[in-house]
Amino acid sequence: VAAAAAAVTELVGDRASGWDRAGRLPEDVVRELGAAGHLTAQVPARYGGPGWSSADSGEFTAHVGSLCSSLRSVMTSQGMAAWTVERLGDPDQASDLLPRLTSGDTAAVAFSEPQAGSDLSAIATSVTVDGDTLSLTGRKKWVTAAEYADLFLVAARMGEDGAVVVVPRNAPGVQVRPVPDPLGCRAAGHAEVLLDDVRLPLDSLLGGGRQPLSLLVTTALAYGRISVAWGCAGILRACVSAAVGHARSRHQFGRPLGQHQLVARHLADLWTAEQVATRACEYASRCWDENAPDLVTAVVLAKYVSAGHAARGAATAVQVLASAGARDGHLVARAYRDAKLMEIIEGSDEMCQLILADHALSRR
Ligand code: FAD
Repeated sequence: VAAAAAAVTELVGDRASGWDRAGRLPEDVVRELGAAGHLTAQVPARYGGPGWSSADSGEFTAHVGSLCSSLRSVMTSQGMAAWTVERLGDPDQASDLLPRLTSGDTAAVAFSEPQAGSDLSAIATSVTVDGDTLSLTGRKKWVTAAEYADLFLVAARMGEDGAVVVVPRNAPGVQVRPVPDPLGCRAAGHAEVLLDDVRLPLDSLLGGGRQPLSLLVTTALAYGRISVAWGCAGILRACVSAAVGHARSRHQFGRPLGQHQLVARHLADLWTAEQVATRACEYASRCWDENAPDLVTAVVLAKYVSAGHAARGAATAVQVLASAGARDGHLVARAYRDAKLMEIIEGSDEMCQLILADHALSRR
C-alpha cells in the first residue's frame, strides 16, 4: 500500500488543481493507475487485482482523496463496477470482465436518471429480450467517470425485476454527453449516458438479469459508500495539513494565527473531524473484511459521518486560510466544492439519515 501511495503521489504531483480547472484528468494517468490495478484494489489476485483488504484499500483511497477528489471519484466508480461484477456476474463474466478492469480498461456505474435520483425504484431504463439479443433504452445522468469509461454498468428494469447490463461505450446507440461545469470533482468525467435501442448479446446481463432492483442498487452502493467515506477522510487530511501549516506560518496581531484561541478552536474541530471520519471508516472496513452483521449500517454511518465532517471541515479550512485560500485552484477551495458533493452522492445525507433512523428504531 505504501508503495502504491508513493506512486500516486508522484503521478499526481502538483497537478490536481490544474486538472480541476481544466475539468479533465489526463487519460494516461487514469490508464496507468488502472493498468497497475490501483483503481480496483480489492479485486482478488485470481482476477489480476491486488486483492487488498477493505482496510488497506480504504487507506489508499484516503490518500488518493487527499490529493485529488476527481481521481478518487474515478477510482470509486471503477471499484464499484468491479465489485458489482464480482457479486452479480456469473463465473464466465467475472473471468472475462475483472481481468480487463484490473489491467487498464475503465468502467462507470450508471443508475441515476432524470426521474430516479434518491428513489432508484423509479428507474425507467428498460431492457427487453428478443431471441439471443437484448435491447436497452433509457437515459442515465451524472455518471461519474463516464468520459473515461470503456464500459458502462447500466441498471435497468427487466419486466417486474431489474438487471445490470454491461454496455461497451462504442456500442451503436450509446451517446455520452459531459455535464457542463460541475460544482466540484470537476475532472471526474461526469456525463449523461443516452441509450437508444442498444442491441447486445444476452451475456451482457450480469448473472442473467432478473434480480430485484433493490439488490442491484444496494450491492453497488455498499462499495461506493465506503469508498466515498474514505475519500472524505482524505479530504479532511489535506485540509488539516493546509490549515495547520497556515496557522503556524501566518502572523497577525504579533503571533501565529494558531495561537489565537478562536483559530486554535478551528484547528481542534478540523483535526477532530478527520479523526472521527477515520475511525468510522476503519470500523466499516473492519466489518467489511469480517463480513460482520453490522456491515450495512457501519458503511452508511461511515459515509454519513465522513461526508458531513468533510463538508464542514473544508469550510473551516477555508475560514482559517481566509483570503489565502479564497481563490479557485487553491487546495482548500477545491476541497470545499468537492466535499459538498459528497453529501449528495451514494445516498444523500437525508437517505443515510433515514437508514440510520430505521436502524435506531429497530433496535431493542
Ligand atoms: P433528489 O432525489 O431529487 O433529492 C433532492 C433532495 O431531496 C436531496 O437533498 C434528497 O436527499 C432529498 N430527498 C429526496 N427524497 C427524500 C426523502 N424521501 N426524504 C427526505 N429527503 C429526501 N449517479 C449514478 O448513477 N452514477 C454515478 O456515478 C453518479 N455520480 C454522481 C456524482 C456527482 C458529483 C453527483 C452530484 C451525482 C452523481 N450521481 C450518480 C447521481 C446521484 O446519485 C444523485 O444525485 C443522488 O442520488 C440524489 O439524487 P437527485 O440529485 O436526483 O436528488
